[in-house]
Amino acid sequence: MLVKHEEASGRGAAVHLCLASSNCSKLKEFRALAASAAGLVSIDLQLLPNFSGLPAFEEAAPTFGENAAGKALHYGRFSDLPVMADDSGLVVDTLGGAPGVRSARYAGPNASSAEQMKKLQAELRARGSKDRRARFVCVIAVAALGRVVAVFSEAVEGEILENPRGTGGFGYDPIFFFGPAGKSFSEMSADEKNQFSHRAKAFRKLVDFFVSSPML
Ligand code: IMP
Repeated sequence: MLVKHEEASGRGAAVHLCLASSNCSKLKEFRALAASAAGLVSIDLQLLPNFSGLPAFEEAAPTFGENAAGKALHYGRFSDLPVMADDSGLVVDTLGGAPGVRSARYAGPNASSAEQMKKLQAELRARGSKDRRARFVCVIAVAALGRVVAVFSEAVEGEILENPRGTGGFGYDPIFFFGPAGKSFSEMSADEKNQFSHRAKAFRKLVDFFVSSPML
């Protein structure tokens, strides 16, 4: 298996992964998570070179898992290193799971975060339900040598706020209220969000996998 390499520096084994994304913010977020796990395993994460020039993978499957696994497999064909891909989104119970896998394009392909949130609020109002439960879901898949070798899924439960709160984060963060902290994701620092978020929890599962995987 080609995922763990002994470091010439003698600092022990490191996992080298390519992230199937052109999104530098995502890379930054995952790198910060990798850095906080450095005592357990060294994970070196790079963007997949020339990502935007490669044939695009259409995230058209009905589940986060299929999209993440499909994306990792697809882009794995263009890399000698294992490829990591993720799919995430917001699932609102009263809306039958919407926006779900369509979270990024809920209000149209070029809609802003403000427009996505506005549409979600309007749909919730139209239902007239008091049930505002929701969860962020993240699935991370790793592909190597033409196979999906691991899939990690996590979620964080919350409630949709009637009015946005906070200025941090991105996407639906201002309307996602996380009860245990008494604030929206948008009112948290990046470090605080990383204690609770779906993406951080899924990435911690990936870390555990690379720490303990017998196949490495
Ligand atoms: P993707 O995982 O890059 O496909 O993004 C899915 C979409 O889900 C994003 O564009 C956001 O709208 C939403 N989303 C996923 N994770 C978060 C989060 O942590 N905060 C806010 N919105 C999120």
